[in-house]
Amino acid sequence: MGEFSLIDIIRQRCASSRSDVVLGIGDDAALVEVPPGNELVICTDTLVAGVHFPVDTSAFDIGWKALAVNLSDLAAMGATPAWALLALTLPKADADFVRALADGFSALASVHDVALVGGDTTQGPLSISVTVHGFVPKGQALRRSGAQVGDRVFVSGTLGDAAAALHLLESEHLQRAVGSPDAGLLVRLNRPQARLACGIALRTLANACIDVSDGLLADLGHVAHASGVAIEIDQWKLPASSALQSCCTSALRAQLQLTGGDDYELAFTVPAERIDAMNDALTGVGCAITCIGRVVEGEGVRVLDSVGNEITPPRGGWEHFS
Ligand code: ADP
Ligand code: MG
Repeated sequence: MGEFSLIDIIRQRCASSRSDVVLGIGDDAALVEVPPGNELVICTDTLVAGVHFPVDTSAFDIGWKALAVNLSDLAAMGATPAWALLALTLPKADADFVRALADGFSALASVHDVALVGGDTTQGPLSISVTVHGFVPKGQALRRSGAQVGDRVFVSGTLGDAAAALHLLESEHLQRAVGSPDAGLLVRLNRPQARLACGIALRTLANACIDVSDGLLADLGHVAHASGVAIEIDQWKLPASSALQSCCTSALRAQLQLTGGDDYELAFTVPAERIDAMNDALTGVGCAITCIGRVVEGEGVRVLDSVGNEITPPRGGWEHFS
């Protein structure tokens, strides 16, 4: 099984019928048509085995997650996804593995009508890079830099589930105490859902937006820094699933929710006078949101308890090379 047979497997399993793809897989590059009046939104993310997913993660889940983490970045910009490239580095030409990986990728791609238009296939330690392209009406992309003093800070969905699953998988001690991770937590780790509809609904309403991939504190830290403001988080308001609540102590839960990462929820700031409009825009989007804090003058992110005292948070966020 050579490189081109593997590419054929991927092409067949990821076929799509977007009319804006002029030329897909098979030439030196793809040709696509950007709808007039829109800006192209582009990002790329790599998953390395053992770093971004446990080495025994199924090929289907790897394919799904490699696309999901990229779609989450598009969601954070308020973009509508359109096209993807898949650069695959494999230790060996394992057709079954590539079939399952392509099926996982394709399962999520069809949900969001994303066309796979090209990629690269090479040999080496397992790693998957996906590049996605989407578009947003000119001038309407959500950025990290727009937060204003007085904005309320919101987060979609729940936080800490994926980190709890990873924590349980990696700790025999914890597993003896509370058992293996619950299926609901594992799904959050292995098959994240990008909040695309939520991001699109927030265009023209949110002042700033980011997706929570490295941990809430670290990611809101980026918003605070880029916007030249400080952010206060009410720790007791952080939304938690019932699976998370039943698997850990409140101290561990707080740590997972603040620094765990892999949530792929959106964190965003909205001025008070636009909150009603935001709630209207989110009706029918199927994505719950929670107000978790506010934007204030200063710098950095502060975590407060239920009486407003500052808590020293655990060391925050996932950062490579640190
Ligand atoms: P080139 O040598 O010109 O870079 P390749 O031989 O690498 O082209 O790829 C042939 C075609 O297959 C190209 O259209 C490329 O985009 C596509 N392709 C290669 N690998 C993948 C992959 N993993 N997923 C999707 N398309 C791929
Ligand atoms: Mg070429």
